[in-house]
Amino acid sequence: MPAFPEIVLSSRNAKKIGEIAELLAPYQIPVMGVQDFPDVPEVDEDGDSFRANAAKKASVVAKQLNRWVLAEDSGLCVDALGGAPGIHSARYAGEQGQDAANNEKLLAALDAVPQDKRTAYYVCYAVLSDPEGNIRLESEGRCHGRMLREYHGENGFGYDPLFLVPEYHQTFGELPAAVKRHISHRAKAFERLLPQIVRLFASDLVSGTALAAGS
Ligand code: IMP
Repeated sequence: MPAFPEIVLSSRNAKKIGEIAELLAPYQIPVMGVQDFPDVPEVDEDGDSFRANAAKKASVVAKQLNRWVLAEDSGLCVDALGGAPGIHSARYAGEQGQDAANNEKLLAALDAVPQDKRTAYYVCYAVLSDPEGNIRLESEGRCHGRMLREYHGENGFGYDPLFLVPEYHQTFGELPAAVKRHISHRAKAFERLLPQIVRLFASDLVSGTALAAGS
């Protein structure tokens, strides 16, 4: 196995980092969290798409640290709400990362929507930036489900207790982490991205290019 360079995960969400670290584990790619670099400021997610936000989070941090950086932007898109909360998922109710308030706002917005019209999907857009800030690889994953009227389960985070996965008759709040790790939007995006990362690193190692910075 070649010695791959360390990748920095550009996220401060501990639950997300945990899920991503588990997805990376079989590939033996060493990872660090951006919280290991206290001088890196929070990146303002002001893009108009999941891709734009993921690319910004990866590229800004990569240039600052001169390291390979993996970033993802994710969110929930509800069909009856025209795709909302979408890229605003983390701050749907106002402040960043208030899961309980976000869920209450979503339940209120969907109050009059009947069960068969409550379809939704999670999206994850993942990108890899090289140490110069160039986006070298990217991938999108989706996971389809339906929004319930009540909370079920305490696993996961964010909108998970309301998000029913029809094939399993359970929400992401109820399903074990090991199941979410296989079927989630994040799992699907990384499933495609990780083998590409291994190939990219292996080919760069063979040709002797690019890996030096930050490795
Ligand atoms: P980000 O950190 O800017 O990508 O925002 C992601 C937000 O989307 C989170 O704060 C959650 O509200 C929502 N989200 C993304 N992925 C998930 C998930 O797997 N479960 C529950 N909520 C999620």
